[in-house]
Amino acid sequence: MTNTTFADPFRTGTVLGYPRIGRRRELKRALEAHWSGRSTADELEATARDLRLAAARRLVDLGLDATSGAVPGSFSLYDQVLDVVALLGAVPSRFREPTAGGSGRLPLSEYFALARGAGDEPPLEMTKWFDTNYHYLVPEIGPGTPVSLADDRVVREFVEARDVGIVTRPVLVGPVTFLLLSKAADGAGPGFRPLDRLPEVTAVYAELLRRLADAGAPWVQLDEPALVTDNLGVPFADVAEAVRAAYGQLAGAPVAGTAAADGAARPAILVAAPYGDLRGPDGDGLALLAGTGVEGIAIDLVRGGLPAGPVAGLGSTVLVAGVVDGHGVWRGDLTAKLGLLERAAELGAAAVVPATSTSLLHVPHDVEDEPYLSADLRSWLAFADQKVGEVVTLATALSGAEGRAAAEAALTSSAEAVATRQAAEGVVVPAVRERLAGLVPADTTRAPYGERAAAQEARLGLPALPTTTIGSFPQTAEIRAARAAARKGELSEDEYTAAMRDEVARVVRLQEDLGLDVLVHGEPERNDMVQYFAEQLDGFATTVQGWVQSYGSRCVRPPILWGDVSRPAPMTVEWATYAQSLTDLPVKGMLTGPVTILAWSFVRDDQPLGDTAAQVALALRDEVRDLEAAGIAVVQVDEPALRELLPLRAADHPAYLDWSVRSFRLATAGAAPATQVHTHLCYSEFGDVIDAIDGLDADVTSLEAARSRMEVVPELAEAGYDRGVGPGVYDIHSPRVPSVEEMAELLRLAVGAVDPRLVWVNPDCGLKTRRYEEASPALHNLVEAARKVRAELG
Ligand code: GLN
Ligand code: ZN
Repeated sequence: MTNTTFADPFRTGTVLGYPRIGRRRELKRALEAHWSGRSTADELEATARDLRLAAARRLVDLGLDATSGAVPGSFSLYDQVLDVVALLGAVPSRFREPTAGGSGRLPLSEYFALARGAGDEPPLEMTKWFDTNYHYLVPEIGPGTPVSLADDRVVREFVEARDVGIVTRPVLVGPVTFLLLSKAADGAGPGFRPLDRLPEVTAVYAELLRRLADAGAPWVQLDEPALVTDNLGVPFADVAEAVRAAYGQLAGAPVAGTAAADGAARPAILVAAPYGDLRGPDGDGLALLAGTGVEGIAIDLVRGGLPAGPVAGLGSTVLVAGVVDGHGVWRGDLTAKLGLLERAAELGAAAVVPATSTSLLHVPHDVEDEPYLSADLRSWLAFADQKVGEVVTLATALSGAEGRAAAEAALTSSAEAVATRQAAEGVVVPAVRERLAGLVPADTTRAPYGERAAAQEARLGLPALPTTTIGSFPQTAEIRAARAAARKGELSEDEYTAAMRDEVARVVRLQEDLGLDVLVHGEPERNDMVQYFAEQLDGFATTVQGWVQSYGSRCVRPPILWGDVSRPAPMTVEWATYAQSLTDLPVKGMLTGPVTILAWSFVRDDQPLGDTAAQVALALRDEVRDLEAAGIAVVQVDEPALRELLPLRAADHPAYLDWSVRSFRLATAGAAPATQVHTHLCYSEFGDVIDAIDGLDADVTSLEAARSRMEVVPELAEAGYDRGVGPGVYDIHSPRVPSVEEMAELLRLAVGAVDPRLVWVNPDCGLKTRRYEEASPALHNLVEAARKVRAELG
């Protein structure tokens, strides 16, 4: 027996964070109005305040306690990592301006300059947040980067909610994770690591905590997901040392309201470790945190597990147990979660609080906003507001016999939702299962590359250094207007299709004029590279309001993969064959790969991801066959998210790489030797997946490489990759048009690192976000650069 109580001190349970974009993407609209000069900074701040208070009130209405810090203060105008940059005033020198100072806030113009660039100054880099599709801004920290309490926004937001009667729990990225996610500023010197600045950064947090205590905050939440990953390239021993130092320092101050507190006090500290398992190969993050003296620890019990027995040092700690999946969309069996909470109580913590496993940032607001989903599907789903309800139900059920009785109906209904989903039509489709069960190794193996290469060369007759693009051409205002009109019924389906065919014809002609060797149809008909396929596959549903913040004002609407996947009809064949009918040059068929389709969807949680990926792969395999049969000689299967789904723990990498590679091969290995299979990857540090890239066995792999100056090419060669490679020579993330010589120089690096016969010439990624004014001259220069280096090779 332990003395653990449930749900004290947050009483009602808590969530680690809540969506910030607004139920109708009000923040997106307010940001974009401000950026385009249609609203002032004050107007934007006023909208943001309304959104924050509406969210806090909503959480209270849903059942979270308004007095104890159960409501998270997790708002951000753009990004939570950028908010810490602002808090510290850790602005890179290229943005540093002598500001008024002392105002207690960073001007919004400077905040957004960091996020979006200013004039010729590029913004902070953006990269994916742990294993999610959310992008954070990468801080640049050097030995001379200023660090002081430069912006008291966190305190102001606490006071603003307090003044309307809601005591929130301010949420910030913690100092260790902040510095581990930072990169060394240019010119920082070889031995410097951002973590070297930990003492000064921690001192700012300490000062902020004092101010929060003065304002009356009982709790503060510091997010330290760096504790659950092996992928940051820092040994656990170093992370542990940093955690001990930072939290030893922060927890050293007395807690406000306790006997020891006279003068400088602080709120109780909750350290959150979402997204994964605190138990790593080299040590236990839970024991580490328990030893620091912080008052609360939030652990992810959806992705992570419980330690086998009591944890030393936990006796006076509140364990915030993340049993409700913060980043999937399925309702869970709450009785099973009660069991998990009871097991968590055996660890010996002072209290166990039911909570979400992560912030709810990654899920849409409310299932009630989706009238077009089937009633069945809706009854299986929990978006942010439903998840808050799950947490509150759990806390109620744990609050004693009366509470248990009050929660009984909700507990039963949650189990029923899980059971009806298991039994529902379409969730398990025997024909799909049989096809999967009948697969043999030959289904994932193509002919040897040498044979394929010879057959493809005979068929395609391409020059050395062949030029191509990654697929999409600019999505013009006209294309978007036509799609909007079609959605509203102002344009008939036939009229819309005709408009898109005209666009395809234009794009084909442009590519011929530019002198590209392998053409594309330009993807004008695709709203999104995943949703486009989800809309055509069985087993998927799409939402109307299911927006999730991807970065800043940008939101995505991930489809919901709820059942066994199959392809009722060809999806892309008409577009590809139409484009091919317009030219004698080869046109690439363009598909999104199984891993990326999973990564950018909400995926069923009732079977291993690898099984779901294999189902998607079989649907794509049929599509590849149909493209081939229609005379398409080159097929590209994009996997930009291959790196994103890489598990956070190194021990889980091999299994992931195994199923992800297998699913790609399942999708592509049905292709004849004379069909050239391309793949495309971007958004990543490729180091961790370099062997997997080789394992995909594509004939040609194009990758993002311009910003890193072709760094990946020698890495690939070293990994034994010996097939076609198209390292991007044109950075499409910038409006800049690179010169012929600039691209030729990159190409020379590539042909210097691998056999020139393997090298392709292409941009870093699709052109859909660019304008023709930029893309056309850039592609012109790209073709010229290829000709130039071809001539040099002789
Ligand atoms: N074929 C896609 C495009 O060009 C690939 C996009 C991506 O890699 N994200 O748009
Ligand atoms: Zn890309």
